[in-house]
Amino acid sequence: MQQDPLFERIWSGAAPMEEWTASVTGGATKPITENIVAIHTGYLFGNVTAIRTGAGLVLIDTGSRETASQTLAALRRWDDSSIHTVIYTHGHIDHTWGARLLDQEADARGLARPRIIAHRNVLYRFDRYDATHALNSIVMGRQFNQPGYTFPDDHRRPDEVYDDTLALTVDGVRIELFNGRGETDDATFVWLPEQRVLASGDFVIWVFPNAGNPRKVQRFAPQWAMALRRMQDLRPDVLIPGHGPVVAGEARVAQVLGDGAQVLESLTGQTLELMNQGRSLSEILHAVSAPAELLAKPYLLPKYDDPEFVVRNIWHLYAGWFDGNPAHLKPAPEAELAAEIASLAGSAQALAQRATALAIAGRTRLAAHLIELAATASPDDKTIQTARAGVYTQCMRAETSLIGKALFAVYQRDAAAQSTVGKSGS
Ligand SMILES: [Zn+2]
Repeated sequence: MQQDPLFERIWSGAAPMEEWTASVTGGATKPITENIVAIHTGYLFGNVTAIRTGAGLVLIDTGSRETASQTLAALRRWDDSSIHTVIYTHGHIDHTWGARLLDQEADARGLARPRIIAHRNVLYRFDRYDATHALNSIVMGRQFNQPGYTFPDDHRRPDEVYDDTLALTVDGVRIELFNGRGETDDATFVWLPEQRVLASGDFVIWVFPNAGNPRKVQRFAPQWAMALRRMQDLRPDVLIPGHGPVVAGEARVAQVLGDGAQVLESLTGQTLELMNQGRSLSEILHAVSAPAELLAKPYLLPKYDDPEFVVRNIWHLYAGWFDGNPAHLKPAPEAELAAEIASLAGSAQALAQRATALAIAGRTRLAAHLIELAATASPDDKTIQTARAGVYTQCMRAETSLIGKALFAVYQRDAAAQSTVGKSGS
């Protein structure tokens, strides 16, 4: 592959990922070999890999709901053959949603629908999506600040599933699938041994690993690191990540995989050491930190998930939900606790005033505790809601991660709305 000036600027940290998104908006194909391309439509939307064989195309992933039609159009500008096989790298909708377009296209052309292969847990994921459809709509709408968001339904199930590894040969092209757990429990990375090309799925996403997301099911930081080490052992020449630009060159690919593994190994090791000493979750959250030199890498910036959330997820993976604070084992109703503390403080307003002062002084964590107590003790007080909106505005400013900012924004908007309920013209 030829030198790519924009990639060099992203690799050095000089260019933001938004510049890369702008360069592929509308759908762009990146040649990997004569018979392999990566298809991009923007950072937020899952990448697709296409492999040309004499029996038809093999696709790795299918694209996001927002851009799957652009992905398909870009594919068809490159090759018009029928699609023989589709591999899902996992069951997240930004990787699977485009499968319906592929079925529709095959039907319209009178061709066989593609065979879809995935890890077995994709089936269980889609059953879970059916059982929690409204919840997923709420969670995703909040995470991406899209009130009214509706989660897709009628997910295209795989036709064939596998458990640990699977080797396919399509018209003589060897394609190896490996299961690993990381962001999900249903993940596959795909290795093309003859071309030394790795399609990692969301094990590599050009930000700090999304292994802590507060509103999602269990994630697997330690196993994520193991999967990255397994990929490193394959010594790929080219890495096609789940999101973001292709990384070319054995040394750079090894660096991306190794640094991602190292940051997760560090968080896991620190957390487990303290857990084995019997420390509480609160002590661990405030004692563990990710190595700063790794967080500064352009492919590990904590812009989406937050290392602190990952520590919580590691705790939960090994130790369940109890955090080690006995008051949290069988807690009082929050309204009772808030009323008691407001009474001790003199009033709910006193708590709110202190919360505002703390937030202005930058002590946003403590401010959030006090303002929630104030609002819970006196839920109809509009001045407290105004103060609450102000505290969460400060909390949002203090966050680096998209998820952290988005969750505080949910409560900032809620408070702002409640502070003006019944008022006119404000
Ligand atoms: Zn993804």
